This record gives sequence, structure tokens and C-alpha cells, in this order.
Amino acid sequence: MKSNELNILKTIKLLYVEDELDIQTITADVLRSVCGEVVCANDGVEAIAMFEAHGDFDILVTDLNMPKMDGITLIGKLRAFDQSFPVIITTAHTEINFLHDAINLGVNGYTLKPIDLKKLISAIAKAVESRILRKELEIFNGELMSKVKEQTFELNSILDSQDSLIAVSSGKKITVMNQRFLDFLGINSIDELDDDISSVCDLFIEEDGYYFKNTSKGECCFSQTNRPTNTDLFVKMKNNHGVITVFKLNINTYDFNGVHFIMSLTDITILKEQSDLLQYQANHDALTGLVNRQYLTNILQTEISRASRYEHNFIIAMFDIDYFKTINDTYGHDIGDEVLQNLSNLVKKYLRDTDILARWGGEEFMVLLTETDVESGFEKINNLKELISNAQLSPSVETKITVSFGVTLFKAGDTKNDITKRVDIALYEAKNGGRNKVVLK
Ligand code: GH3
Ligand code: MG
Ligand code: MG
Repeated sequence: MKSNELNILKTIKLLYVEDELDIQTITADVLRSVCGEVVCANDGVEAIAMFEAHGDFDILVTDLNMPKMDGITLIGKLRAFDQSFPVIITTAHTEINFLHDAINLGVNGYTLKPIDLKKLISAIAKAVESRILRKELEIFNGELMSKVKEQTFELNSILDSQDSLIAVSSGKKITVMNQRFLDFLGINSIDELDDDISSVCDLFIEEDGYYFKNTSKGECCFSQTNRPTNTDLFVKMKNNHGVITVFKLNINTYDFNGVHFIMSLTDITILKEQSDLLQYQANHDALTGLVNRQYLTNILQTEISRASRYEHNFIIAMFDIDYFKTINDTYGHDIGDEVLQNLSNLVKKYLRDTDILARWGGEEFMVLLTETDVESGFEKINNLKELISNAQLSPSVETKITVSFGVTLFKAGDTKNDITKRVDIALYEAKNGGRNKVVLK
């Protein structure tokens, strides 16, 4: 007998049915020496009871001619439940009529009495082999499935423990969403996504400065070729309560039966608000709310490039309050501040939206009049000078407040420095010329 057959026999549980007790005892003893477990019954009725009590037998070895219930009836009843249950019969020459019925019931083997135990064991091994292998395969598959389940659970737990919203798209549809993403959208599973959402990009709000992409239905917003290369992608999404959140979007891919995109979205709403505020503070003057020198210097550079390329004109005017020190000294610093604020508002209102007014420093201001030629620019600034001198910039200040202007026109080849130097000289001349004046350079 082959060693793998012996190994298989060691794993099986066998039900042996025999009414002649001396045969039963001898045979069972031998079977027990090779099989995992052997349970004996004295007739068909007892065997059925055993099946009902244990149920997990791998093979039935049964005599045919027995009291109460014969072997054929027993096999018939068993076959009604399990078509392929292995059965071996032991029978005498005189019971040849039973043998015919047994063959019709599809028994797996037989031994004639007196039993040749070696042959019986070999027949048992053959009959159970495929069943045992199948059983082992089932156990292996079961273990594999529970391993897969365990690992899936582990992966989902990792995904769900992330602060970011994570989704995976197969290119055709969203295949994975972590709990945070589902919670954000107020749904329990991907199946609850609206029909018109086939891609994560369908959730992004279309707004300047934020990433979004129109997708035709059933198409992912990314592919190997149109995957955005920008690493700083910011997107906006609305949650189930309609609250808009800003996210930084990271995209990674993996290849398994095609490319899959892993999208990880980190909530940066607070950071964005803070950075917007810092950006605002970096560009604006706190007292007047006007843009500051730094901002205007940058804009000036852009304006020079634009004017050079399209041959546009622009005017730069610098103005400074006349004898402002006296106002501070006479009325106090707070009134001085009030004058600066009201002057800023007055000038801002006077200018077009496309013009820029900046606080250059102290009580000095800079005006950029876009797309303006020298005649209309000079006239405009003169009118502004008049407007200021007639305005009351603080209820507390009774004396007239005037300003002096230096004005210059952008000339081809001018640098930022050329322009600011020229306008500074013009302003200096306006002051020297008696103040409340406009000097064009
Ligand atoms: P000029 O006609 O030559 O320009 O004379 P001025 O007195 O205006 O010029 P000066 O440069 O001597 O004085 C400017 C004053 O502006 C001095 C400074 O205290 C005041 N000043 C600068 N920034 C502020 C501010 O933010 N608030 C107030 N209240 N005063 C300011
Ligand atoms: Mg000054
Ligand atoms: Mg001054």
C-alpha cells in the first residue's frame, strides 16, 4: 500500500456496519489500526442513527444481509442525501442477488466474505481518496478565504484610520472609498453614489484656482496620458450638508489588470484660510486697506511686460501729503491716521477699478493708471489734486489738506527703477515748486 494512501486513511472517519459480532470485532480492530476513527453499528437502523448523531463520516463499510434494515436499504437512504458518498460492501457468495442491487446503487467497491482485510483496506483507500483530497482543498480554500478576508479587513482598517479621504478609481468607475470619504458624502457605500457620479472628479467644484475636469459619463478624469503633472493640486468639494471644503489632492497609480488611480484628499480648509490671510496681510496695508509697496512693485513689473508687448501706455503718479507733520503735531496722530484713511477712500473711489492705488510708505502713495496716455493721465491727476484740496478729510481738521504729485509716463525700455526714480524726482520738484502741484516728467 502506498504511503499517501496510508496517510489519507489516517484522516478518515469510517462507519462499519456488521451484524455478526465476531466478524465486526476482528475487522474493526484491523480497520482501527489504519483509519483515523472507526465507529461500528450492528444493522441499518443503528447506522442511520449514527449518521444522524455524527454526520461527518467519510465512508460507509457495510454488510448487506442484516436484520432490522439491510445494507441495500441503508445505502439507498444514504444516497438520497449524498449521491457520491463512498460506500464499500462486504458480502457472502450466497448474497449475490444483493450484490446486483448494490452495483445499481453505485457502490465504490466490495469484498467477498470471508473478508480479505488487505483488499478491504485498499478498496477503502481508493474510495475515499478523491473525497479526502476535495475536503483538503475545501479546507485550504477556506483558510485562503479567511486569510484574504483578514488582509482585506486589515487594509480597510488602515484606509479607514487615515485622516484623508481616499478613493480608488479603475478608470471606469470608483472601486474603493474609505470610511471618511463615505462619511463626508453622507453615504454608507459606493453603491449609494448618485448615478451621475462615475469619477471622483465629478465631485470637484468648478472654480478658478482649483483643479476640476469635465468628464463624460463613465469615464475617469485621469488616464495615463492626461494625468495632471502638477503636484500641488487643490480641489473643492461639497459635503452632504452643503459645506465646501478645500483639499490637497494626491494621485498615485498601481497596475493590476489595468491602471488604477489612488486619490488621497487632505482637508486643508483651515490652512488655506490661514494662508489666504497671510497672503492678504503680506500684500496690504493695515491702516488704509490699500495694497502695499511690495504688491505694487510686483504689479509694476507685470504692467511693464504687458505694456511692452502690446505697446500700451500707462501712467505712474506718486503723491505725498503737504505738511502732514503739522497735521499730526496740531491734531494728534489719531487724526493723522483718519486723514490717511479718508484720503485713501477718496482717491480709490475716484479711480477706475482697473487702476491701482498703493500706500508707498508713510504719507506717500502711488497710483498706476492702466492704458492711459499722457494727456488724459495728466488731466486726471490734476482733477484728483483739485478733488483732494476741496475735500474735508477729517471733521476735526479745519485747514485745507493738499497733496503734491509727481507723474510720469511709461516709456519703451523703462525698468521699474527708471519709472520710480523719475516719478520721485517729479514729486520732489512739485514740493520744491510750492506744493499742491502736479509735475510731469
Ligand atoms: P512735506 O510737505 O515736505 O511732505 O512735509 P511733511 O510734513 O508732510 O513731511 P515729513 O516727511 O516731514 O513728515 C511726514 C510725517 O508723516 C511724519 C510722520 O510722523 C507722518 N506719518 C507717517 N506715517 C504716518 C501714519 O501712519 N500715521 C500718522 N498719523 N502719521 C504718519
Ligand atoms: Mg513725506
Ligand atoms: Mg508730506
